[in-house]
Formats: sequence, C-alpha cells, structure tokens
Amino acid sequence: MKRLLEGLVENNRVYTAGGKVASYIPELGKANKDSLGIWITTLQGEEYFAGDFEERFTIQSISKVITLMLAILDNGKEYVFKKVGMEATADAFNSIINLETKNPQRPLNPMINSGAIATVSLIAGDGRDNTFERILKFTRKITGNPDININEDVYHSESITGDRNRALAYFMKSTGVIENDVEDVLDVYFKQCSIEGTCKDIARVGAVLANNGVLPWSGERIIPVYVARIVKTIMLTCGMYDASGDAAVKIGIPCKSGVGGGILAAAPGRMGIGVFGPALDQKGNSSGGMRLLEELSKELDLSIF
Ligand code: GLU
Repeated sequence: MKRLLEGLVENNRVYTAGGKVASYIPELGKANKDSLGIWITTLQGEEYFAGDFEERFTIQSISKVITLMLAILDNGKEYVFKKVGMEATADAFNSIINLETKNPQRPLNPMINSGAIATVSLIAGDGRDNTFERILKFTRKITGNPDININEDVYHSESITGDRNRALAYFMKSTGVIENDVEDVLDVYFKQCSIEGTCKDIARVGAVLANNGVLPWSGERIIPVYVARIVKTIMLTCGMYDASGDAAVKIGIPCKSGVGGGILAAAPGRMGIGVFGPALDQKGNSSGGMRLLEELSKELDLSIF
C-alpha cells in the first residue's frame, strides 16, 4: 500500500503545476503550490501515508461537514433542513444569485457558503466564542487530535477580507434565515474555516463517517448512523463545489474539499482518506488531489456505484 501511495503522489504531482493557490484570502496565497500528500486510515486502524502528508493547512470548507453534524445533533434533521436545503447547485461555492432567485428563505445546501453560514447559526451555545469552542471540541474528538486549533493568521486574513460572506449573511438575516447576530455568526464561520490540521486529521473524520459514526480507534460512537448517512450523501452530491457530479463519476465516494487544498473522503465500510494539494483547479478543488483520488479509487475499487 505504501508503495502504491508513493507512486500515485509522484505521478500526480505534475497536475499541481496547472492549478493556482487560492489568494482571495491573502494568507492562503503563501502555500507551497507543488505540495501533494495523502493519508489513509482504515476501519481496521491501519494508517498509510505518502508525499507531503505532514504539511499543515486550514481545512476551510471541509469544516462544513463537521458543523453540519453538530447542527443536526443540536436541532434534529427536520429543523436543519427546514432552514437549509439539500439540493446541488451548478454555481460557485460563494454564489449569491440562487439566494434571491431560488428561495430567499432557504439556501440550497449546507456545503456552499450561504448554506454553511446558515447551518453554523443553528449550533447551540452563546452564538460566538462558546459556540466555536463546541465546534473545536467536537473537531478534536472526531479527529482524535486534542491539539487541533485555529490558524490565527488565516482567521484574521479571512475576517478582514470576508465581504462576500458578509453579503450572504446579511442577505439571509434580511430574509429570516439567520435569526441571531450576523457578526457573531460570521466570526464563528471564519474561525471554523481557519481550523488547521493535516491529511491525517481529515482522513480520520473520513474514517468515522466511513464507519457510520463510530471512532475506529476506540469503538466509541460519536454520531448516530442517520447523521453519518445524511452527511455522506450531501458530501457526495454537493461536496466538491460545482464539480460534484464529475467527482461522483470519477471518484465515486463522498468527498469534501476546501480552498486550503484539502480533500476529505470517506470510502464506506473501508477507510477515510485525507489529501492535500493547495494548487486548485478552476472549480476550487485541489488539482493534484482530484487526480490522486481518482487513481486511488480505481486502484482500490473504492467507488460505491
Ligand atoms: N473560508 C472560505 C470562504 O468562505 C471557505 C471556502 C471554501 O473552502 O470553499 O470563502
């Protein structure tokens, strides 16, 4: 397995050259464009890795998977999906247009920015620091890594430049989707995106989902089966931005990417996979990471279809 992963990383590193590191959050622009790494955690507890798997990156939109779990745990699925839809979009992750033209009372899904900001507004707590503490605590638990924290520089960079997200959030406040203080909700959202980890951390989240909500390394159940099932389904249909259909065909397992270059994948009943490659393709997915996952899926016959 180790040799397979090393070969796949080296063969696919060439695709990082065609991508671009995200720079609309200035701090992300400092990432090393050529990096590519992978970590696999199997449900039997084996761990395999190759390439730049030790590099740290902010999980960005991958955090939307974690906050969706918490929002459902706090509110139940009926309430969450009354506020946020579950339909894919062919528009960019930060698009505004659907909010006004489709349904101003319900952003399309929890994996795009509007839907994720609405989702985080539902998480219990004081709406700001204590709500974020709950997200961080849950993240530490689901990764099995008590040292997980935020990258303060990315958080400040994102908070200063997050005007598009502010626009989405204020629009949703005006239509009643968001009921609490908008700046508080945004602060929690910017912090969740700035959570920093490695391929191993996101692979472990994938392994918990692949294991239907049970931590494979301890046997402890942290989410019910129905929550794991909903989250995996929404990852598969909406997790890879407006390339989710493409990813479903080529990779065939639930995945969620972030503009920091990470991709979390869950191969049901088999393994969690964490990939990192900060050079992004035009849709915002890691360009080397997508190819790497596509080949890995073929090699190990991971597609659920
Ligand atoms: N923090 C990013 C934003 O809201 C997350 C985007 C992403 O990773 O897709 O713009």
